[in-house]
Amino acid sequence: MDLMNYIGGKFERHSGEKWLDVEEPSTGNVFARAPLSTPADVDSAILAARKAQPKWGGMDGEERARWLDRIADGLESRYEEIASLESKDTGKPISLARTVDAHRSVVNFRFFADEIRRHEGEIFEMADSTNFVSYRPVGVGALITPWNLPLYLLSWKVAPAIGMGNTVVCKPSELTPMTANLLMEVIHEVGLPEGVVNLVHGDGLGAGSSLVSHDDVDLVSFTGGTSTGSKVAEAAAPQFKKLSLELGGKNSSIVLEDCDIESTIKGVVRSGFMNQGQVCLCGSRILVQDGIYDEFMERFIEEVESMTVGDPSDEGTDLGALISAEHLRKVEGYIELAKEEGGTIVTGGYPCLPERLSNGNWIAPTVITGLSVDSRCSTEEIFGPVVSVHRFSKDSEAIGIANNTRYGLAGSVWTGDLERGRRIADSIHTGMVWVNTWLHRDLRAPFGGVKDSGVGREGGKWSLGFFSEATNVCVKHD
Ligand code: NAD
Repeated sequence: MDLMNYIGGKFERHSGEKWLDVEEPSTGNVFARAPLSTPADVDSAILAARKAQPKWGGMDGEERARWLDRIADGLESRYEEIASLESKDTGKPISLARTVDAHRSVVNFRFFADEIRRHEGEIFEMADSTNFVSYRPVGVGALITPWNLPLYLLSWKVAPAIGMGNTVVCKPSELTPMTANLLMEVIHEVGLPEGVVNLVHGDGLGAGSSLVSHDDVDLVSFTGGTSTGSKVAEAAAPQFKKLSLELGGKNSSIVLEDCDIESTIKGVVRSGFMNQGQVCLCGSRILVQDGIYDEFMERFIEEVESMTVGDPSDEGTDLGALISAEHLRKVEGYIELAKEEGGTIVTGGYPCLPERLSNGNWIAPTVITGLSVDSRCSTEEIFGPVVSVHRFSKDSEAIGIANNTRYGLAGSVWTGDLERGRRIADSIHTGMVWVNTWLHRDLRAPFGGVKDSGVGREGGKWSLGFFSEATNVCVKHD
């Protein structure tokens, strides 16, 4: 299957001759090709978005919200197809692709349709004047997304961006282009006005960087790695483009002696290994208090080893394949490094799989102990099914370890004392902390990181604020 760009309401072949193979991570088989778009393709997509913007931005919010609902309906009617495409394209278990990826892609459009209906300007009265605050579209947006949650993250940007009256050019990850293509099919079928949503496939250096540095792009919403984020920030800076960066993380799960061990183990395993540990929020450093350490380790390892690693299309699979051979090598490199840094691999290795999966990107869930808390493996983002476990005695020590990375995205605290949990959570320098849960999301709450984990917040009114320009008109009374 050869994919096409979607520009000005039409599926178009790209202008260059080069293609990117799309591989199935679980088998290594190539099952599609995506265009390696050129700067000329990026130009036409931006032109189409620019042409469409005034009319789209001039519609009222209710009308745009109805379009978001139609897209949600279209996605919902292809729910199972989204799940199986996402599972095939990313290597994640089908059950996860269904409950997380397909589910959130539909919910994102519905949620922002409702948010846009509710969204109003503000009025601030002074003794002699009235201030009228309104939210205008920013213009043309570049939306760039990674491979770990392809449609989930793309829909999380497209819905608020167009809902607030912007037009957009999307650039999904070259590794996982399939569901972005499906979204364009849905957008085409529902008849969204041409040019409101455009898509160029391609890599970061070609399509991605030309999009970000283009003179006619007004805002950039980027989710991806921290080092790419800094290049994106640099490219967007000369024109002061509005910029949102959702970047990497190295998150701690803090397990206190007074926790409920049963639910904590389930929560910490889920947080460490969901999507093969390829979620920016994954808790890959597990800090366990002295008094519970031995019991925790015994039951934790048992739970980790009981997970089924295998064919992503099997309903019973807990962990699938890593995204690419290159990424697998990076993860293996960190495991080797952990040994050099004095760590002990308590469980890990390679899963035993049928012959037809032998060319996939496989590794078993890996638990490392004995690393120093400032070792590279304990402080750098590995983004795979690899966690390190560390012991601590006092709360202040756990807080110190959790804050000892360049990242500041998320974390979790597991305790029977909610006050103590809140106190610790308040001392962790990240954008989000969960107490006795993980990845539990109210879409109205702010989402985003501090330090090297990003700039800005997404979610509810934060997304609507980013995708608009708040403008004040102050009228002096007679
Ligand atoms: P990546 O940075 O390699 O790529 C992300 C996107 O940026 C891709 O579409 C890529 O083609 C594009 N890109 C690459 N170079 C570019 C450039 N110079 N200019 C413009 N675009 C460019 O990241 P990845 O490997 O796809 O994703 C994994 C990373 O994403 C991890 O670090 C993870 O923590 C992070 N992530 C963060 C969040 C969050 O919300 N904070 C969510 C998911 C993933």
